[in-house]
Amino acid sequence: MILPIVGYGDPILRKEAQPITADYQGLDQLIDDMFETMYSADGVGLAAPQIDRSIQLVVIGFRPYDEKTDTYSENEERHVLINPEIIEEKGEKEYFNEGCLSIPDIHEDVLRPKSIVLHWFDENFDEHEELIDGMFARVAQHEIDHLHGKVFTDRLSPLRKTMIKRKLNDVATGKVHAKYRMKRTSKR
Ligand code: ZN
Repeated sequence: MILPIVGYGDPILRKEAQPITADYQGLDQLIDDMFETMYSADGVGLAAPQIDRSIQLVVIGFRPYDEKTDTYSENEERHVLINPEIIEEKGEKEYFNEGCLSIPDIHEDVLRPKSIVLHWFDENFDEHEELIDGMFARVAQHEIDHLHGKVFTDRLSPLRKTMIKRKLNDVATGKVHAKYRMKRTSKR
């Protein structure tokens, strides 16, 4: 089932999401629904607060890019992150152009570490602690921000923030229309 996506300005995107346990009701179905919602909106990652659930659950799916052949792999890389925690940031930081399904029409370069040591549980509640990099590390960091009430525009310079302020306000007041279904944010 495709779920409506919560837009910038909704208070749930500013909340600290709660960790979950393996007996969380309807978890398998929720994960399926989140993947379906993400793919239907052409996203590469989705965090549970974006579908109106304040829990520490993230889905990620993308086709890895191969620099040598300048093509995208046929095989998709998929990850489910439950209660993820960044243990350590590694290496240099780099800029990468990010967008967010909760903030349609805004794309900005965001500075983040290239690689991180990540601790998480997968959909079977198997525990992982791995050094990850590339697209996985980039998307994971963006999505983990959502679990802590942060969005990518918070990480921009004061100048860039000022420049996109009106656009952000348009999203918050429902003036921006996405190609996918969004949850109507209550008037404040
Ligand atoms: Zn996002």
